[in-house]
Amino acid sequence: MNENITKRNALLAQKVIKGLESRNMSGYYAATKEEALKIALELIPKGSSVTMGGATSAQEIGLVDAVKTADYRFIDRYAAADRGAAERESYSADVYLAGINAMTEDGILVNIDGNANRVSAIAYGPKKVIFIAGMNKVCADYDSAMKRARNVAAPINAQRFGLSTPCAKTGACMDCKSPDTICCQFLLTRYSKHAGRIHVILVNDNLGF
Ligand code: SF4
Repeated sequence: MNENITKRNALLAQKVIKGLESRNMSGYYAATKEEALKIALELIPKGSSVTMGGATSAQEIGLVDAVKTADYRFIDRYAAADRGAAERESYSADVYLAGINAMTEDGILVNIDGNANRVSAIAYGPKKVIFIAGMNKVCADYDSAMKRARNVAAPINAQRFGLSTPCAKTGACMDCKSPDTICCQFLLTRYSKHAGRIHVILVNDNLGF
């Protein structure tokens, strides 16, 4: 990462962390992916049941591989014979790993979901939610965060899942009501009722999308 980008990210992260703390959430700054992995593993006691939803950034720092070891009980919805049952089991997991579609400099998290298993688990259920977020997810304000989530994250996710949506053909959001749309549920996390439940690890890197 460029030295000047690193300086800017370190400074901006302090503002984001203060914003998260004002919303009863915890924020951390990692200068590298390795540091982010270390912080995340310190937040996950050995023996925890762990699951995830749409956590590309967690994969990119090596966190998903780390919790698939014998030290943890990983609930793998992709490998489960009954994926719906595995997703429902996620609600009682000790730890839920997730990415963020976008967030504001003052700590509001923006996530969009089609099936809603991810946003519902973020909102309620797992005892602890750990977000891994590259600094590329931080936007100046609510409007720019929503624009990022809708115009960058969602169209890329539509490509990822091979969906038949207008954005998959044009790269731009057309505000569709296609049966394939992944923009069904919008979750804004502006405050956590439960101290110690939501943790955001900001990483000095471009992670996810
Ligand atoms: S609303 Fe439709 S076109 Fe827009 S990003 Fe979502 S799926 Fe794509």
